Parts: sequence; structure tokens; C-alpha cells
Amino acid sequence: MSESIQSLLESVSKENRSFPPTPEFAEKARVRSMEEYEAEYQRSIDDPEAYWAEIASELHWFKPWDRVLNEDEKPFFKWFEGGKTNLAYNCIDRHIENGDRNKAALIWEGEPGDSRVLTYFDLYREVNQFANALKKLGVGKGDRVALYLPMIPELAIATLACARIGAVHTVIFAGFSSNSIRDRVLDCGARCVITADGGWRRGQILNLKSIVDEAVEGVDCIQEVIVVKRGHGDPFPCRIKEGRDHWYHRIVQDQSIHCEPEQLDSEDMLFLLYTSGTTGKPKGIIHTVGGYMVYAYQTTKVVFDMRKEDVYWCTADIGWITGHSYILYGPLQNAASVVMYEGAPNSPDNGRFWDIVEKYGVTIFYTAPTAIRAFMKWGEKWPNAKDLSSLRLLGTVGEPINPEAWIWYHKVIGADRCPIVDTWWQTETGGILLSPLPGATPTKPGSATLPLFGIDAAVLDDEGNEQKAGILAIRKPWPGILRGIYGDPQRFKDTYWCKWNGEYYFPGDGARTDEDDYFWILGRVDDVVNVSGHRIGTAELESVFIEHPSVAESAVIGVAHEIKGQGLVAFITVRENATADEKLEKELKDLVIKSIGKFAVPEKLIFSGDLPKTRSGKIMRRLLRDIAEGKALGNVTTLADPSVVETLRKKYQEQ
Ligand code: ATP
Ligand code: MG
Repeated sequence: MSESIQSLLESVSKENRSFPPTPEFAEKARVRSMEEYEAEYQRSIDDPEAYWAEIASELHWFKPWDRVLNEDEKPFFKWFEGGKTNLAYNCIDRHIENGDRNKAALIWEGEPGDSRVLTYFDLYREVNQFANALKKLGVGKGDRVALYLPMIPELAIATLACARIGAVHTVIFAGFSSNSIRDRVLDCGARCVITADGGWRRGQILNLKSIVDEAVEGVDCIQEVIVVKRGHGDPFPCRIKEGRDHWYHRIVQDQSIHCEPEQLDSEDMLFLLYTSGTTGKPKGIIHTVGGYMVYAYQTTKVVFDMRKEDVYWCTADIGWITGHSYILYGPLQNAASVVMYEGAPNSPDNGRFWDIVEKYGVTIFYTAPTAIRAFMKWGEKWPNAKDLSSLRLLGTVGEPINPEAWIWYHKVIGADRCPIVDTWWQTETGGILLSPLPGATPTKPGSATLPLFGIDAAVLDDEGNEQKAGILAIRKPWPGILRGIYGDPQRFKDTYWCKWNGEYYFPGDGARTDEDDYFWILGRVDDVVNVSGHRIGTAELESVFIEHPSVAESAVIGVAHEIKGQGLVAFITVRENATADEKLEKELKDLVIKSIGKFAVPEKLIFSGDLPKTRSGKIMRRLLRDIAEGKALGNVTTLADPSVVETLRKKYQEQ
């Protein structure tokens, strides 16, 4: 990378506001200062095996491990080899033994306003009864079980029941189509699907069962379909196929409330999860029991400063990795009370999330930048109408957060009081790798700041030299690292270990570091655009647009350009009450000139009502590139709303 590019990227990094933790927060935090962070970080890097063994000892093992880390068949790493444990046991039984039988484990809120609270003992009973029901059907260790459920308690219960008996769960977000389910079920050879006869979303009942029926039609590996009763038979009477389909409530009713947890090998498969498909066909990511368990436990404890007194709410769906690690496995291992919400943030109105925070006295709130941008668009009046004073910590995950959205979140939701943890990680990493520690790290809006304990991160060029801006790389394996792509070891090697002679894990994201060695994620490496030799991270240009008070959201892409190599196209969504006109276009261009430079002004600015997003809410820039280049669209199976693409394509052609 040349000098001029370096200096450019540094000039783009004009964000230098810094927010130290408040003394009130720091005083009581698990990690209270940068000195403490640095000392523990150094220890974790100098002797990772000793460090991780110490953390793992805080959990229950039926048999201790023989070896902490085995790198003999790199990149197929093994952690805690020889150890025997059970993750469901560590999430539930351990707390019951410690006297927390009656503490709320799950606080569930249904979209229509119904609610259910399950104590740790309730969860124990329900998980064990369902685990026994699965066993009775013949489901056992190593069998793949697909879950296609709304965000209802049974989703948590069924996931934990699989973990208890050693069945491999693969949770499929309940917004996916029957084709997407079929692809995943076939890819992993699932024997069983667990679904529901309905689920609420924006006042409507989703007809999940008929989507599953269509998905598994003629699929030989599927032997059982288990159906949770959530709908009310209207408007979708539920068809039960004799011999294959079973009502959930019937198969659990006579089961014992005790179920011996399977003593699993640390490297037994725990779950498969398909990535969100931002960059292409989803991959079946493999996580195993021991390492994932330890990593989810430790990162939850330090990043969310979690204690059992906390009422913790992560708004993700359990269908994504965030829901696995930070709704279920991390918080439950830490004995927190976990809020789980079934429905949409704008049902019945735009204030629903803040109703829930007030109603349950949520202390820790974790959401995605896309949600924060929606809250900004809807306006402050919604959160301002509720009592949010219980909140003590906020988090974000999923995409780079635009500094303006960060500031809004900090001020309007966090009342300038709550630290924000911007957590960078992936399905593949199992848990968070880069994040502030809320009692220690001064935060900067838009930066995921520093590596967590045991994470040796760097920014490199293609040759493996450290750079201020380039490609994010992780040097040492950590316990939560993926163990493979299901059925495709070659794709695993090609995707993550193709660079730098396989010496580093390659996450596929661009990043830069600043004068404090903080990391700033620039977006996917494929989203870094090269305009006349200037490399621009789309995330940073998008953040410039969002600074404008009329802009709600934007996506920037690079398209082929005869002279410049690549030119830029920006898609802009305006806020409610703002007008998309020539005046705004001019103001936005001026803003880019002022903030970055003339070369970064897009060739085209397109005002769009909406942007194509994955069902997890991420902008799919590759589809925007396909539109701009007039190509057939790539894989669209993970798109949330296919009509958005057609509308945009028309708009694009009109310009
Ligand atoms: P696919 O791999 O199929 O394209 P995906 O990468 O969107 O899908 P996930 O594993 O859910 O699937 O997302 C991980 C990616 O999300 C990261 O690689 C990164 O690009 C982005 N990301 C997550 N958290 C952050 C964050 N705090 N800041 C910036 N980017 C983030
Ligand atoms: Mg990815």
C-alpha cells in the first residue's frame, strides 16, 4: 500500500471524540482500568493455555481435559481435548446447585403482550422433559436437528435440550423461505425439524408449519417434525402428517423432569449455523462443545460486565450467532435473567422496545446498528416517553456503527451515562473478539477498540506486513474459533486460511488502527473501493452521509469506471419528514468534499425508500453492485424483502 493511500485513510479517520467510562461504572466493574486490562491481556497472550485453563476451571467438567490446545492438525484446532462436559448443564444445573433455583432465567414477552417467566428450575424441568421426548423419538448424540421457530421460550428450551443430549442443533431464522430451509436441511442431513403452527410478527401470524411442510416434502433424511402450538388454528389450521408430525405439548407431557446430561467430548459438535449470506452462499459453520462454551462464558462476563443481578436483553434472533452466544449460552452460563422478545420493534407502535426496557427494568441492552438507525428515523419521542433509568450498559453488533448513530444511542438511550460496547465478531468466531471493556476502555464512536483477552489481532497487507490500514487478521487460535464448514473442509481452508500461508485467521474484513492502536472496521474487503488509486472503505463514506440530519441510512458501492478504475455509487434513505431533492443532493456532495475530498464524491446518488438487507438487517452491497452493473442477481435466498431490489433496479435505470 502506498504512502498516499495511508495518509488518505488516516485523514478519513477524523472521528476523535473519546468517552471514558464514568467513575461510577468503573468502580464496580469486573475490569476497572486500562492497567488491569493491559496486565490481563499480556498474561493471556504470553501464556494462552494457562489463561484459558484458568477460565475453563470456573465451569463444570465431568472429566478434566488432557491438553488445553492441540495445533497438530492446524487449522483444525482442538481445545480442551479429552475433557468431558455439557453446555446445558453449565447453563442450568450449575446455578440450581448454587442456590439459584428460583431466579428468573428467561423473561419472555410475546408480541401480542402475553408473557412468561421461567426460573432456572422451570428451565431445568422444561429442557429435561423435551430432551427426554427427543430421546424417546430416537434422536440422540450427533443427530442434526433443525429448529425453525419464532422467538418463543420453546426455541430456547429446544436448543438447550439438543445440547443436553448431544444432538447438533441448527437454528434457522424463522423468516427464511422453504427453499432456504430445504438447502440447510439437506446440507447437514437433518433428521428432525422443530417448528410451530404460528408466530407473531407485526400483528400477523406467520404460517411456519406450512413453510416447513413445503421445505421437507420429499426430503428423505427428515424423520420427525415437531410442532409447538403458538397459533390458534386461525387463519391457518395446522395439518398434522401421521407418523411424521408430533405436537410438542403431547410428547413432553408424560416425560420425567430429570434427564442425565450427556457427557460430551470437548470436541463433539455442538451446533451448526449458516452465516447470513452477505458475501455469497451461506456456509454451515461448525462449533464444538468445550471451546465454544468457555469462550461464550468469558466474553459475556467481561464485555457485558455481567452479574446474576442483571436483566439482560439482546434484541437479536436466536437464529443468528448473536442469539446463540449472547441470548442463550453466554448469559445463561453467567446466571443472568435474560429477556427474550417475540416480535417486531414497531408493533404495536415504534415505542415497543422502550416499553419492554421499562417493564422489566432492563440493565444491559444489546442491539444492531440497523435497529439504532431505525430508532433515529422514528425520533426521540418514543424512548423519551419511557423510563430507561434501569439501563447501565449498551452494546452494538453486526455492522460498523456510524458515529452519528453511536452518539444518538449514547445520548438518547444511554442518557450520556451508559458505556457502549461496539462488539466486532462473526458467526465463525463464536464470540466477540474486539470490543471495549465497559469499565476500562475509553470508547470512540465507530471503533470496536481493542482485542479481548487471548485475541492477537493485527492489520496486515497482502504480504503479511503490519499496516495502519489493510486487512484484519487474527494470529493465535482462541477457544471459540470455528472448527470447519460442514461437509466442506476444502472451503474452510480456502475461505479462512488462504492468506499469509495459513498463519493467520482471515475474517474477510478491512480495518485500520489509530494512534491508540484502536481498531476501526472498514467493512468487507470486497467493499473497499479503489477510486483512481485511492482506497475508500464504504463504511466511512456512509458515515459521512449519516451526519446529515436528513439522512437515515446509506449504502455505498464501487462500480467499474473507465478512467478511475472504480467509481462510487451511493444509495441514500432519507429520514421521515425530510425531502429527497436536488438541494439535498448538493449538500451531501459538499459534505463529502469537506469531510474526505473531491475524489470521494459519488458518480451517482440514488434516493431509495429502502435498501436490500439480509434477514439479520445487514445491507447487501453485493446486490447493489449487481444492480449497478446490470448483472443477474447473485444468491438472494437470505434477502429480507425481495421487492426492494426490483424497485431499486427500476430507479437505477431511470437515472
Ligand atoms: P456471510 O459470511 O455469509 O457473508 P455475514 O458475514 O454477514 O455473512 P455474520 O457472521 O453474521 O455473517 O457477520 C459477521 C460480519 O458482520 C463481520 O465479518 C463484519 O463484517 C460484520 N460485523 C459484525 N460486528 C461488527 C462490528 N461491531 N463492527 C463492524 N462490523 C461488524
Ligand atoms: Mg461473514
